[in-house]
Amino acid sequence: MKTIVLDAAPNIVRYQVSIPDPRSHRYALRCELRAQGPVEFRLPGWIRGSYLVRDFSKHVIGLRAWRNGREQAIERLDKRSFRLAGDGEVVLEYEVNAFDESVRKAFLDTRRGFFNGSSLFYCPRGFEQTRFEIRIDKPRDALCADWKLATTLTAVETDADGFGLYAAEDYEALIDHPVEMAAFQRYDFDVDGVPHALILSGRVELDAQRVTADLARICHVERELFRQQPQLDRFLFLTNVVGAGYGGLEHRSSTALICSRGDFPRVGKTELSREYRTFLGLCSHEYFHLWNVKRITAQAFLESDLGREAYTRDLWHYEGVTSYYDDLFLLRAAIIEPALYLDLLAESATRLQRAPARLVQTLEDASFETWIKYYQPDENSVNASTNYYVKGALVALCLDLVLRLRSSITLDDVMRTLWTRYGAPGIGVPEGGLAAVAQELSGLDLGGFFDRALRSTEELPLAELLQEFGIAATLRASTSALDDGGRTQSKAQVRWVGLRLRPGESGIAHVIAGSPAQRAGLSAGDQLVALDGLRITAQNWTRRLDAYEPGARVELAYFRGEELLTTRIDIADAPLDTWTFTLAEADAERLARRQAWLGV
Ligand SMILES: [Zn+2]
Repeated sequence: MKTIVLDAAPNIVRYQVSIPDPRSHRYALRCELRAQGPVEFRLPGWIRGSYLVRDFSKHVIGLRAWRNGREQAIERLDKRSFRLAGDGEVVLEYEVNAFDESVRKAFLDTRRGFFNGSSLFYCPRGFEQTRFEIRIDKPRDALCADWKLATTLTAVETDADGFGLYAAEDYEALIDHPVEMAAFQRYDFDVDGVPHALILSGRVELDAQRVTADLARICHVERELFRQQPQLDRFLFLTNVVGAGYGGLEHRSSTALICSRGDFPRVGKTELSREYRTFLGLCSHEYFHLWNVKRITAQAFLESDLGREAYTRDLWHYEGVTSYYDDLFLLRAAIIEPALYLDLLAESATRLQRAPARLVQTLEDASFETWIKYYQPDENSVNASTNYYVKGALVALCLDLVLRLRSSITLDDVMRTLWTRYGAPGIGVPEGGLAAVAQELSGLDLGGFFDRALRSTEELPLAELLQEFGIAATLRASTSALDDGGRTQSKAQVRWVGLRLRPGESGIAHVIAGSPAQRAGLSAGDQLVALDGLRITAQNWTRRLDAYEPGARVELAYFRGEELLTTRIDIADAPLDTWTFTLAEADAERLARRQAWLGV
């Protein structure tokens, strides 16, 4: 028997989220509303910020519906939509299987619950602008007794642990405030008078005072760029701490993060580890999305109902520019030194340099095709798919340097104008919007620059531009398997055949197009067995190669499937694919530019 508990307010959709048994990994959903005539319900096909159609409806189980207390047949319209005939009060009940540990869907076990509304909540058509109320019940299971709840949904009536009644002003808000439930650690801090908090689920020990102080400095410099706009009520870093993980998804007043237990500094440690710096870079990145993509956003995204793909050629702007700024804010917040910042830029430049795809796919095409490429990488991605985060960040760098060199503005001015013109009034940015604003504000003819950077596969003018800022850019050979670019003391010469092994295995992850490995007939998936009659392991592979002079041709045994095959492979010197950017002697003009950009 289903009883309707709707009150007199007709323009409201009520959801109840409960957890009958966390061991089942299922959320139980109940939806109540009142509607005249038939109602259509839809679940999003993708989640904003992650450009792949994921078909969240595939996790829905046991959907049933009632109208005015009588069970109603569900008429399925397509993979994500259905219709209910009849009239008056509607009750829906269903379960959602939640076992996705990423930040994009929903997860539930006895340790933790997390969900994005896009995985749980159907939108009744015509109710997109309606107020939603969501009751989230604390699970009664003893294993969840210490659970608390954190979300930026508006609390209406909640208990001390944060469970209870929440509201969202419309459907887009409902699905843009993820919910975290666990016996998490919570560290509150203030940024320019706005309450912020770091929520950590999962076992972790850290110097929370240091971490929140660092986060506060990063958030502050970002807010300063946009002159403390917009007004925020609060911000949450919802962080899932795991053994080994990395990722984040931006939301309008929070971000969902996944990171590694070892990322955090412990009390008493003062050095900046690579892992901790990477975590701060991730937080910086997601926080900048508060402006760039959440509010300064593509018209195509604003117009999308999240059903099918929303195409834009500008993801280099939304992700690449954000990636350029994420480490730059670490520098502006005095968390890293200029020399280290240049190392991070050099690592990005090296990633691009080592990917033959940069000569194959333009940045605009990489953006447009993200729906079939970036989120579905395969063994050939390094040869075929340009990474718009990496190349986009380097294009943003080049643009900032061109503006600083040839005009009176910087990329900061471009971002501020994008905010006041599009972000603040909630207007979608037309295609090519950032390029147009850069050109307008600077008074420069940037057509050639953008044609080359976005619509061609020509190399970027990194070295030429950096030189104008008193920075020496050198392209050198890698000195070890761990050399990702940046400064190195080593003069080691390493050998190269153009393949990458899967981490910890002797199986091939990918083969570089045109490399000795490809000429020898090797493919992704092949299992290397022996080089010149000596066994190959994940640990000794580069050492084995380094034993030969460049030009040597050596017998290589490998398995393809079950068959043992042999080939001969040419050993080459490591190519010049590794960048180093260093502060250099320069004239006063160049030093002044560098001072203005990097503060050194
Ligand atoms: Zn991003």
